[in-house]
Amino acid sequence: MKKILSAILAGTMMCSMAIGFAGCGGSGEASKTETTAPAETKAVSTADSATKDSANKGENGELHMATNAFFEPYEYYENDKIVGIDAEIAEAICDKLGYTLVIDDMDFDSIITAVQSGKADFGMAGMTVTEERKQAIDFTDTYTNAVQVIIVKEGSDKVKTKDDLKTAVIGVQMGTTGDIYVSDYEADGATIERFNKGADAVLALAQGKVDAVVIDNEPAKAFVAQNEGLVILDEPFENEEYAICVAKGSELTEKINGALAALKEEGKVDEIINKYIKA
Ligand code: GLN
Repeated sequence: MKKILSAILAGTMMCSMAIGFAGCGGSGEASKTETTAPAETKAVSTADSATKDSANKGENGELHMATNAFFEPYEYYENDKIVGIDAEIAEAICDKLGYTLVIDDMDFDSIITAVQSGKADFGMAGMTVTEERKQAIDFTDTYTNAVQVIIVKEGSDKVKTKDDLKTAVIGVQMGTTGDIYVSDYEADGATIERFNKGADAVLALAQGKVDAVVIDNEPAKAFVAQNEGLVILDEPFENEEYAICVAKGSELTEKINGALAALKEEGKVDEIINKYIKA
């Protein structure tokens, strides 16, 4: 079922795994999902644009989804397979549209560039709709709400409220809305430490290298569950909405919106979300 292919592209070793992914559209026919293994660095997004089968817009029956698969419960690895809310909704959308889903894992802040350049057909990564991002890419209709929260060490004296962040050392995942929001605090005296993965920011918090981490609520819950001695402050930081991003002017927007509307109508989106997020 699995095969590991190694390809040397522009001097960069990349590893791709073709992985069977149980179809979640309810039809007996499981569609195939291929997963490109994580780009530890940004090598994948820069070195291989000329050689990778991409920008296909479904031409070989595939749609490439750019994501960062370290964002439980939206996208994360279960053994070799990328699972989660986004992975399953994307799979259901591709089922509806008749495409095979291929997931390309990369740093979060490479996703928009990958979609803009056509290296990926769409980006889905718990991505918040923002006016600034809309300048670069189009968003589909939203599929869920989220909230940015603050994680601190249990009993932290340094950060008890949102306001305390202004004088704190704050860990964020680079290029995320958490990063964008707290950047405003730099002028007040906050120091921002930017990490490629949310997990690395949380590790820095556990090690006392940062005073707080600002990140999306559901991944925050997963991180706190995995790291003893961390808590999420009750005071929410910012409310947001997630959507799928596509290249500006792409006809995919309409297609995805159609599939998404049908999946919402059928209760499939709620079903997938409820499978991963227990009320
Ligand atoms: N929702 C945040 C954003 O869009 C974080 C997403 C992520 O880290 N995957 O910036």
